[in-house]
Amino acid sequence: MTFQDLNLNTPLYNALGDLGFTTPTPIQAEAFNVVSSGKDVVGIAQTGTGKTFAYMLPILKSLKFSTQENPRVLVLVPTRELVVQVVDEIEKLSKYINNRVLGVYGGTNINTQKKAIAEGIDILVATPGRMYDLALSRVLQLKSIQKLVIDEVDVMLDLGFRHQLINIFDILPPKRQNIMFSATMTQDVDLLLNDFFKTPERVSIAVSGTPLDNISQQRYNVPNFYTKVNLLTHLLNDTERYNKVLIFVAYKRMADRLFESLDEIFHDELCVIHSNKTQNYRLRSIEQFREGMNRILIATDVMARGLDIDNISHVINFDTPDFPENYMHRIGRTGRAERQGESLLFSTVKEQELVENIENLMVMEIPVMEIPEVVEISTELIEEERPQIKERNNPLKRKDEDIAGPAFHDKSEKNSKENLGGSYKFKIAAKYKKPKTRGDKNYNKRNKK
Ligand code: AMP
Repeated sequence: MTFQDLNLNTPLYNALGDLGFTTPTPIQAEAFNVVSSGKDVVGIAQTGTGKTFAYMLPILKSLKFSTQENPRVLVLVPTRELVVQVVDEIEKLSKYINNRVLGVYGGTNINTQKKAIAEGIDILVATPGRMYDLALSRVLQLKSIQKLVIDEVDVMLDLGFRHQLINIFDILPPKRQNIMFSATMTQDVDLLLNDFFKTPERVSIAVSGTPLDNISQQRYNVPNFYTKVNLLTHLLNDTERYNKVLIFVAYKRMADRLFESLDEIFHDELCVIHSNKTQNYRLRSIEQFREGMNRILIATDVMARGLDIDNISHVINFDTPDFPENYMHRIGRTGRAERQGESLLFSTVKEQELVENIENLMVMEIPVMEIPEVVEISTELIEEERPQIKERNNPLKRKDEDIAGPAFHDKSEKNSKENLGGSYKFKIAAKYKKPKTRGDKNYNKRNKK
């Protein structure tokens, strides 16, 4: 396939020609028609796959010349580095197109950005916080936004931008196309998609299903959570063999639960990272694991994706990932730099189908190991494993502390405030919170006296 097959236009062909690009990358080929169709889309692709052009090519093809001031395309990305990078990519593609692209992010002078916005733009690339501030100030008008792109959704959610995204959805015109890109599908991403988008079409490129030769893989069929803990404990007791172990779980609540279960025995060698932990805590945990001060690290998928840590002896998949791509990302944390690595996969009966998906992707079977006899098979079940009891007032239903609350962690003070709804909050904030100039605090104080 060549770019000619995508029926682009002359300015785009010329720009691609200048860049020396002739062939669309797999995600570009996959995404083009879906994004062009105007439907909501979620693309699963990592940086480096050409995903920026995957959404920008169809967007730029359909964006007509306009002199109106308000932006029509909004691209949200999690970090300023990405703002710069995405603007740069759009500019490369727009070399022969008369459009106005602007990147904005926090930590820099907002007034300069306001001025640039007031001059009129077509495409705004922004981090969520700064974009929201600009919208509150009313300099940025969002009523003409037709396309919303959220890039790196998984990172966005892991950095805690969920509430900010929801507030932003609320002030955008409801009739718009939503285009989302994420490197991995995670529970958080799934939740966001289910809560806010009309069954987005999914495009993804096949992650290479060929596991690295230097990673040996084995799996255990384990009946439940507590037996998994017993098996894991048994394995981890062999400190010599299991000398640097990265344990993956699907979501933070499970990470915390596993941490609590292992903490008693492996207290001094154990750390856990997920998005509810502070940045400092996470960095410290990773550093301690990297340097070998902690032998065992429990992590969620997103957190560990970018980790490049040498000499990981074992990756243990405490659960079986819903998406086979995530399994490939996980096991790739070991066996780096030509060293040998081992990967173990724990699966319950319910997870067998997921195991099959993984094996199909790799076109190989993962050898099954017997659970050693010394490992106690537990019959106790955690909340998620118990059969769902539907009747109301069932006297057998367990009560009190066994029942999972809506959130495992106490909400932070900010988030536990009453939800007034985005638009109302927006109005109030616009009215009271952001005066045009606050003046110099110290100067004002002095003059009050
Ligand atoms: P991205 O995944 O969007 O971060 O892109 C990764 C790099 O691939 C960028 O430097 C792009 O300029 C480059 N790139 C994008 N599309 C193509 C293509 N079709 N052929 C060659 N390189 C590309």
